[in-house]
Amino acid sequence: MTLERYGFQSGDIILPGIEMPVRLGKGFYFRNYGIVPDLRGKTLQIAQELNMAPPTIDLRQEAYYGASARHLGIIKRGDRGSAVFVKEGLDMGTVIFDYGHESVHAVRNLGLEDQFAGFLRKEGFTLNPFETYSSEEQIAHVGGVLSLHKAGMLWFFSHPEVDPIREDLMASRS
Ligand SMILES: [Zn+2]
Repeated sequence: MTLERYGFQSGDIILPGIEMPVRLGKGFYFRNYGIVPDLRGKTLQIAQELNMAPPTIDLRQEAYYGASARHLGIIKRGDRGSAVFVKEGLDMGTVIFDYGHESVHAVRNLGLEDQFAGFLRKEGFTLNPFETYSSEEQIAHVGGVLSLHKAGMLWFFSHPEVDPIREDLMASRS
């Protein structure tokens, strides 16, 4: 119950971007903080609200394309939570990509890997990111690309690290 007090949800939720419905079990939480003016400021504000020193929050930077979004992994009194947010002022393609990318960090943090692999199959892709890629960023990019595809905006985001992932995913269409 700890993280519910801070606006986190358990039970039935939909991970943004990839639009994947999941049921979070007891002790697992998610919160989408939406569009925020400043990633670092929001991170520190959340740390303060949750009464956690920043080092106890996973402050992993999203360095690959200039830190436009963030996932925070939170562990508080046995609860495990994922918080995501995206920087304001981005174009729509980047926002959609970012939500999908951060949602897959949440997938990892909340132990939903099998569900995400199954969801990809249901969406018509045979690629299993957990068997194909070794880096968490590459795995998260699959969520970003899937989100663009679902939004009909597959080509509205490009980055040297992301483009090969888009090719892999699209080549795996069943
Ligand atoms: Zn990432």
